[in-house]
Amino acid sequence: MVPVRYTGAVSAIRINGKETARKKREEAAARAALLRERGIVPCLAVVLLGEDPASLSYVSAKERALEETGMAGRDIRLPAETSEEDLLALIAELNRDTTVHGILVQLPLPGHITGDRVITAIDPRKDVDGFHPVSVGNLVLGRPGFLPCTPHGVLVLLQELEIPLSGARTVVLGRSNLVGKPLANLLSRREVNATVTICHTGTRDLAAHTREADILIAAAGRAGLVTADMIKEGAVVIDVGVNRVPDSGMKRGYRLCGDVDFVPAAEKASYITPVPGGVGPMTIAMLMQNVIEAAEAQGAAG
Ligand code: NAP
Repeated sequence: MVPVRYTGAVSAIRINGKETARKKREEAAARAALLRERGIVPCLAVVLLGEDPASLSYVSAKERALEETGMAGRDIRLPAETSEEDLLALIAELNRDTTVHGILVQLPLPGHITGDRVITAIDPRKDVDGFHPVSVGNLVLGRPGFLPCTPHGVLVLLQELEIPLSGARTVVLGRSNLVGKPLANLLSRREVNATVTICHTGTRDLAAHTREADILIAAAGRAGLVTADMIKEGAVVIDVGVNRVPDSGMKRGYRLCGDVDFVPAAEKASYITPVPGGVGPMTIAMLMQNVIEAAEAQGAAG
């Protein structure tokens, strides 16, 4: 396990997700250039229903990243009232389109649409979000396949920092299909070898679990849920949460924060991710990597 770095006034090393993400995006850009030399322009279709402000900003960030990485983006914006049948028909069309290598339907979807049906309709070869049951199955079985971007981004961040993972007592706070569950599966794969505990709203005495963690990963979506007293001295703290907290001092009326009470937690941890600037940029970098992998595989298959 990482040595305890905290001694009085010295606080945790702030993990720079932007820097690691930049490195990963450069690697993706180099692979994209090789594909372009072969006449293949990796292309991601991004489908957005409605105008949810958070979704709009995520989609714009993805489109900027595609451009910077030398890939093409097919930006498809539809009204929130679009019917499920029309959305499924669009996905079928994108599945057939050989110039589109990846398909991403921005979540959450409006209430009248069954998310599971939509995700399952995506061709697994184009499932760059890694949410299709085939991708989930491959992840659980330890087979090659698309890894979901946020969990993969967390793993890569830990690996880049050379945090010892084998045998590390790891607590994942959250069990959603998008983050907590795949992350726990990924970390407990044999080649990663962490010992993983998953916590959720049914967990009794949450702090008793988190205080045991060498690596604590918060993905609950609750601002301030993880306080310093819940963290073991010297632990590595990864904050996946992105919460909007009202703040009249900010022009936009809110500020972004994670699930961890950052300042006091940083005095206890050995490493900690900030929000923003920690896990978020890694999610996009891993998406770029998945689009490249999809384009390489489809290019090889002709
Ligand atoms: P979600 O679907 O709402 O799941 C939250 C999970 O946390 C659930 O399993 C829930 O337990 C658990 N939880 C909530 N409150 C809790 C509490 N007080 N004690 C213990 N467990 C609690 O959210 P999500 O999609 O997984 O996302 C989690 C957070 O990550 C959100 O803030 C989201 O914005 C953020 N996120 C960030 C990125 C990124 O790139 N940085 C990407 C995706 C998501 P139950 O299952 O018992 O309800």
